[in-house]
Amino acid sequence: MAFHAAGGVREEEGQIVRQSPWPYTHGKFNNGIVGLTNRGLTCCVNALLQSFFLTPEFTSILQRWDQRREVADDRNIPYNMCRLFEQMQASMSGVVSAEIFLNCLTLNRVKAHRQHDAEELFLTVFNLLLDQLLNPEMAEEMKRLYEIKVEEFVKCQCGKMSVKDSSMCSLPLPVVETQSRGSFKLEEALKLFFMPQDLSQNNQCYCSDCDRKCPVMQGFKLVSVPKILNLHLNRFRAPSSSWDFIRKIYSSVSFPETLNLDQLPISEKAQKCGNGQDGWHYHLYAVLTHAGNSIFGHYTVYVKSFKDSMWYHVNDSYVSQVQWEDIRKTFEGRVYSWDDTAYMLLYKRVEQTGAVTSPADGHYRDGASRPQAAGL
Ligand SMILES: [Zn+2]
Repeated sequence: MAFHAAGGVREEEGQIVRQSPWPYTHGKFNNGIVGLTNRGLTCCVNALLQSFFLTPEFTSILQRWDQRREVADDRNIPYNMCRLFEQMQASMSGVVSAEIFLNCLTLNRVKAHRQHDAEELFLTVFNLLLDQLLNPEMAEEMKRLYEIKVEEFVKCQCGKMSVKDSSMCSLPLPVVETQSRGSFKLEEALKLFFMPQDLSQNNQCYCSDCDRKCPVMQGFKLVSVPKILNLHLNRFRAPSSSWDFIRKIYSSVSFPETLNLDQLPISEKAQKCGNGQDGWHYHLYAVLTHAGNSIFGHYTVYVKSFKDSMWYHVNDSYVSQVQWEDIRKTFEGRVYSWDDTAYMLLYKRVEQTGAVTSPADGHYRDGASRPQAAGL
């Protein structure tokens, strides 16, 4: 048996011996919030790891990871996430290094020490996690935790309509450029996402009835919503020409602590199944923020402790208690400033109705852009 005093984590022949449920609940450091040192451009990985660690619904599934039935090596994402969370749990100083997880990312060909987009990194890590969980029930449960099921429709001008089911583990929401603070709300961004889009010109789709590419309307309707709702504020605008460059949108997007999804379009199928929107209420519990510009930036995370219901700001190894007023400051940013600007919002469902099922292919696609409509 080896005992690694540094992290306080006990491992027997490579096997983790669990101490107690994560995250740490004894209130030793900021009610269980343990900082992660920056190992060189690792702020994004740190913020993302904190968002996983401080989601008890996530950790309670991950904690069932069983080394006797799984692969326990340096490349395995769930195993090394478990090892890191054990270190965080057992930390005597309130700060640990995520080195074992950074090394694991490198072995999975994910560059650990570089500028990342938090949303892209979330999708990469989450898909790797699902791939590497050998226990199918666990993988399924983990997938369902974030799964937003939608019905995607494409309607040709001739009237022909095609509908297909798909799912996402985050919603990429448009950020409208405004001048005044508070004038654009998260609820409006959600409505814009679900508003049918006119795909004409270069985005036309082939219609078998018209036997040619036609302008179409494409849109989404909700089928079911998950326990953890991941909303991505799409603040980085792709270049519109070869002379253009990626821009960050600093405009204000105000978001509420309590969010209702009852105004969004719901599919007929969901209505028939009685999967109504009455219980689609959410509470905000984490905000990943980005400071800086489209070339160089810094990520931090604001999290609401499930233990004392207070907000904390986790900036790599620094943890401090904050107020809702501090979170409100992340609604917007300013050019040439290092203001924290909200980028990813994590909401937790208050009530639940109906069952959520999985997508057929078991993978989430990159939600950074609206999916291209398939031919009719
Ligand atoms: Zn047509």
